[in-house]
Amino acid sequence: MKTKLRNSSYYLSSPLFENNRFIQAIITKSNFAKIDQPIDRDEWRMAANVANASYQPLTNTITFPAAALQAPFYDKNQSASRNYGGIGTIIAHEISHAFDTNGAKYDEVGNMVNWWTAEDHKKFEAKAKAVVDQYNKVEYLGKKINGQMTVPENIADISGLKGALEATKKLSDANLEEFYKSWATIWRQKARPELEELLLTIDAHAPNKVRVNEVVANTDDFYSTFHVKEGDAMYIAPKDRITLW
Ligand SMILES: [Zn+2]
Repeated sequence: MKTKLRNSSYYLSSPLFENNRFIQAIITKSNFAKIDQPIDRDEWRMAANVANASYQPLTNTITFPAAALQAPFYDKNQSASRNYGGIGTIIAHEISHAFDTNGAKYDEVGNMVNWWTAEDHKKFEAKAKAVVDQYNKVEYLGKKINGQMTVPENIADISGLKGALEATKKLSDANLEEFYKSWATIWRQKARPELEELLLTIDAHAPNKVRVNEVVANTDDFYSTFHVKEGDAMYIAPKDRITLW
């Protein structure tokens, strides 16, 4: 395939659509150039100005662009508990992806190899199913969450929050209220209902509000920190709270 590109100065005054096509052509060309070349394990998968994070099972690596390392995720002037509830939960979320229903199929160098004992894998499958079943019951905008479609992200959310929570509790000045509020803060979102409805059918993540509420309701400390009792809207019985690891 030969891609014909116009002079780059042409695109400076072009519409968004043309510019996007131009960028996509460069990306495609760059991807094709990698065929038969040695794998570059140090290649960054996201631009530094993107406020996002990722886990890559093929290299078993986590990526945090510089833009994600600022408030509200991380700020040297906010408390350690807030930072753990922000970037701490995100780091732990990405590490947890190595052990979600997709990541668990890859070994430590990124090969698709079954490294589980049969017994461990059976237990893992049962816990993953419990996550699917729990989220299938959650309603949002009058519709049910697709538990199966969102299970890898929900596992990473539950495991990530619990990992960061345990780290926070080791702080001499741990403040769990700040920790939980920081988790809620990083997922604030404003969107039209049409977009939210679309995301419900295609997004691998649960809606942001569910990511906050369902995940915290699976941790015992949430109940003691905010005095949540049986009968309250977010209450989950202790036997039904899920811990993956
Ligand atoms: Zn994720």
